[in-house]
Amino acid sequence: MTSVEIKGVQKHYGGFHALKDIDLTIEEGEFVVMVGPSGCGKSTLLKTIAGLETVSSGHLLIKGREVTKLEPGDRGIAMVFQSYALYPHMTVKENMGFGLRMAGRPKQEIDAAVGRAAQILRLEEQLEKKPKQLSGGQRQRVAIGRAITRSPDVFLFDEPLSNLDAALRTQMRVELSTLHAQLGSTMIYVTHDQVEAMTMASRIVVLNRGQIEQVGAPLELYNNPVNLFVAGFLGAPRMNFVAGKVAAADARSAKVVCAGGLTVDFEALIEPVSAGDAVTIGVRPEKLRIDDTTTGLTFSADVRLMEYLGRETIVYAEAGELVTTGSDSGTGVFTVQVGDIRPFTLGTRVSVGFDQRDAYLFAADGRSVTLPKSSAKI
Ligand code: ATP
Repeated sequence: MTSVEIKGVQKHYGGFHALKDIDLTIEEGEFVVMVGPSGCGKSTLLKTIAGLETVSSGHLLIKGREVTKLEPGDRGIAMVFQSYALYPHMTVKENMGFGLRMAGRPKQEIDAAVGRAAQILRLEEQLEKKPKQLSGGQRQRVAIGRAITRSPDVFLFDEPLSNLDAALRTQMRVELSTLHAQLGSTMIYVTHDQVEAMTMASRIVVLNRGQIEQVGAPLELYNNPVNLFVAGFLGAPRMNFVAGKVAAADARSAKVVCAGGLTVDFEALIEPVSAGDAVTIGVRPEKLRIDDTTTGLTFSADVRLMEYLGRETIVYAEAGELVTTGSDSGTGVFTVQVGDIRPFTLGTRVSVGFDQRDAYLFAADGRSVTLPKSSAKI
């Protein structure tokens, strides 16, 4: 059953077009994560669903009911914010029961709902405490508990983990995924953190400049990004991008030559490119290998930096004439993710290689023209 429908939603702030023709259907029980860089419009979109922002045009439906003009309290949603928004003078129990008290529900029902939520969120020991006596993670659990007690049709989360430290964020990610599995409710979650999106979502919505770039399951988007933006946004470390030129092409294939002479042949393109086109080749860091003779295509590079992360090593290697684009570490620098711990020496020349089948080709306008790569079915 459909839970949320967003139809042709536009949002203008004066002359600024913040949401551009957003269409999205969310099924009952999905965990949808909206992700994108700062200012892309993800919070605005969430607020329009919540009713905290009006839409300039378009329609919003929740469980088939038009809610576009309804007040937030009449939409059947509950929202959890980054800032917790707890009442400091109320106990945990009072905070969690607040929505039901305002709705005039009987005390017995409120106590039962608070007790149930406290059990799910392991807050039973904290019910008589005030928010200032709790840790950040516990406060956020109270805010989630307040949403649970209202039994909403849809949970909306606006960057709820941003105020927590890295260890607690990881723990809360697991807790939220478990909570979703337990409740089976529809959840819409906004974050700028692609790791949160990849780990929690049943579907990810990638937003950029007020527009949806791609919607799909995490691994589908990771393996088959439709364009340069999605390819660069999902994945840490980022995909490597190399500038190239189409030397020869027909309807299904292309030979791409990069500065320094690296040549990559692409077969079975889903759309043709033309000789002379400026294109971009993409290879994920984990698909590059160092000093491995089994790889098909190789180029030379000098080791500039290593990061030993315990179970893997990230090597930044500078490849003379090859032009990398959009890299965090400078023009010509490739990021290689080595799946084990190997000693590298700064300044050493290494051979970096990859299999052509792992490379993506992006046309001049940024669209991916490579055949979808198989996604592991999970
Ligand atoms: P962040 O991760 O930084 O919160 P975001 O993707 O959530 O970013 P939004 O808060 O949705 O971004 O804002 C989208 C765009 O709309 C931004 O460029 C922002 O400046 C603009 N905007 C948001 N609210 C208003 C407002 N009330 N008036 C004018 N412009 C606004």
